[in-house]
Amino acid sequence: MPLALVDCDSFYASCERLFRPDLRKKPIVVLSNNDGCVIARSKEAKAMGIKMGVPWFQIKKAYLANGGHVFSSNFALYGDMSARVMNILECMFLQAYEVYSIDEAFLDLDTLDKNFNLYKFGCHVKRCY
Ligand SMILES: [Mg+2]
Repeated sequence: MPLALVDCDSFYASCERLFRPDLRKKPIVVLSNNDGCVIARSKEAKAMGIKMGVPWFQIKKAYLANGGHVFSSNFALYGDMSARVMNILECMFLQAYEVYSIDEAFLDLDTLDKNFNLYKFGCHVKRCY
């Protein structure tokens, strides 16, 4: 049984970027409740060396001075975006998928038509982003 894992890239940071397209390709971090520590990083923030879980007060000054952007967590938004992603998967894979986390799901590829082109589908999804 071939399976696929869907994993949204830097999910919380990507959700914030949806409403701030000017931050495309800019470093973004999302902070935990009460802005205690970093719980999500865009790839640009990862490239700056920002570690997962680092206390915000330790990096705040240098991160912002280097052009980083920061968001307090918005779990209502992330839950809504997750539901939208999972709804798309449900439409495509009916019951042959399993939600694994807020931004991950397993897909059973055996349920696809033999002529379904996964490569083209992947390119389509990437272009839509
Ligand atoms: Mg992810």
